[in-house]
Amino acid sequence: MFQEDENDEDFIVSDEDDTLGAPVDMPLAFTNVATMKAKGLFKYAVQWFVQRKINPAFDHDAEIYDLAFKKLDDQVKGLVGSKFTSSVWRQDFTYALQARPEIIVNELSGGFKGLGCEACGRQSHPATFTIQFQGTPYHIETLDEVSEEDSDDEPARRGEQYDSKGRVIPSEDRIYNLGVFCKNNATTAHTLAHWRYHLNDWIVDYLENQGYCSAEKLVERERWSTKKRGKYANEVVEEMMKAGEIERLYRDFQAETDTAREAKQLWRGRK
Ligand SMILES: [Zn+2]
Repeated sequence: MFQEDENDEDFIVSDEDDTLGAPVDMPLAFTNVATMKAKGLFKYAVQWFVQRKINPAFDHDAEIYDLAFKKLDDQVKGLVGSKFTSSVWRQDFTYALQARPEIIVNELSGGFKGLGCEACGRQSHPATFTIQFQGTPYHIETLDEVSEEDSDDEPARRGEQYDSKGRVIPSEDRIYNLGVFCKNNATTAHTLAHWRYHLNDWIVDYLENQGYCSAEKLVERERWSTKKRGKYANEVVEEMMKAGEIERLYRDFQAETDTAREAKQLWRGRK
């Protein structure tokens, strides 16, 4: 079983245990894993992304992953919910921010300055930046793209795109003029809302750069069983651990949450 102690200062999580990441017979609530902190659970989040890439048939609902993402989300969500996503923002702006994984921020050129902020609608927020949200909406739990079949019974109207909750979202071409204050909060809210998506991107790039997804490797793994692929994916995670990649990623993750906390103080300071 898991040998983590309650204080879990480390990532060292009984590396020899083959059952990690696989469904565990004993409910996790009765193991030490239930008391693990975000740092200790971060490894399992990484494992989820690696499994998804190398072993797509893996048990992506396994309790350990659920626990890991819940804990990490808690660290992030509280910040997104109350501090950065403003209730005065227009609904379509908030929907686009939450649904589209890419953001483009530019300074507004001179001629257009003097307009109000299109996120909050206040004239007292003179627009000095533009924000554009891009990328296909996806399901946060699986990272799979939202397809047209996911929307409600009505067939999707031409050109309309939906988020994972079936709500129509603005097109990728929509450019919002924003005041600096809302621009800063929207940028932070976007980073935090899409952390899973971007962490997955990073890990996929890493696996590709390290040669884990070369044509030869793919052909070789094609013949393997799901079980064998799953074991191999866990070994890749152990390699990442030894190379210090997971610790480094966690520091980046924390740095992002910390930046958000500092921004929050700024927000308070303005009031
Ligand atoms: Zn504004």
